Amino acid sequence: MTIRIAPRGGPATCPYCHDGLDPAAVACAGCGVGYHDECAATFGRCAILGCRVPLAVPGPEATPLPRLVAMASRLAALSATDLGGLGDDDDESFVVALLPGTPEHPDASAAVGELLGQTPYDGRLRLTSPVPEPLVRVRGRAAADAVVQRLAGRRARAVALPRHALLRPLGRTDAREVAPGEPPRLVVDGSGWDVPLPPAAERLVVAVQLVEVSPQTETKNLWSEARGRKAKVKTRRTLERRVEPGALVFGRAPGDPVLLRRDVARLSGCREPTTFGRWARVLAEVSRGATVERLEGGAASLLLTRRRPLVDQVEENLPGLLLAARVLHLAWLAA
Ligand SMILES: [Zn+2]
Ligand SMILES: [Zn+2]
Repeated sequence: MTIRIAPRGGPATCPYCHDGLDPAAVACAGCGVGYHDECAATFGRCAILGCRVPLAVPGPEATPLPRLVAMASRLAALSATDLGGLGDDDDESFVVALLPGTPEHPDASAAVGELLGQTPYDGRLRLTSPVPEPLVRVRGRAAADAVVQRLAGRRARAVALPRHALLRPLGRTDAREVAPGEPPRLVVDGSGWDVPLPPAAERLVVAVQLVEVSPQTETKNLWSEARGRKAKVKTRRTLERRVEPGALVFGRAPGDPVLLRRDVARLSGCREPTTFGRWARVLAEVSRGATVERLEGGAASLLLTRRRPLVDQVEENLPGLLLAARVLHLAWLAA
């Protein structure tokens, strides 16, 4: 018997994001598999089990990184197994990320553009983003701190974060109920788990707006020439946009947040007549005395990614929110 091995038909895809590859991709020196520049820059190592060879990205010593939303959609597609081993012998890598809320200044935009090897306009896009934006990957804490200092000298506020802490699967725990008290208690999972929140001084609350956009097909009764009568006809596709308030709650330890959605709004003993009123009470209760950050409005819309690329058309912003909140949490822990 002869077994013939031939390339599969169709365009090559990138092992990290499973999207199609253009010819200008980065090839693994170990096994020859191709990657997008952005995927190679983000993960830095071949994804193929048993290979894991570092991926050389042409460019300066500081490797430019894609924007946060692109990084989030790549992370969302990966499991812990996919990511296993990425940080093993690469603990010296740091990601320098811009923090949102930096007042715009031409010198800051130019500094960010230079760092990325791009124009001041590209720098300005990241500087004015309402979410934290990764900029470069750097080897060694000292080199990362030097980049942060250089940016600070030019009015851009950035932090250096260990890369392995940033590039973990995007996990969270869903809470079902909040009971008042100090600190408030969370009922997690609906299975009766009663988990206390960290004390207010050790709690970071990231207020978010969960957005989901799904394409809908409208059906209308229209005159059909062919049938000589009115018939149901599928017409243009519209987008249904669902928006829901939520909050991601972190403690002092590094780790995944607890996600509170509006349907958690069963604050025991709360007599607010509307779901919205109850949600406002829950958020107030959880935020009291805690550090609060916000990823709402423009930040919420900016972070939309396809839920399952190639499979369905639904876009959601939860992976982006989880990654953005993770950057804020790591920056808060480091402060
Ligand atoms: Zn890719
Ligand atoms: Zn490889």
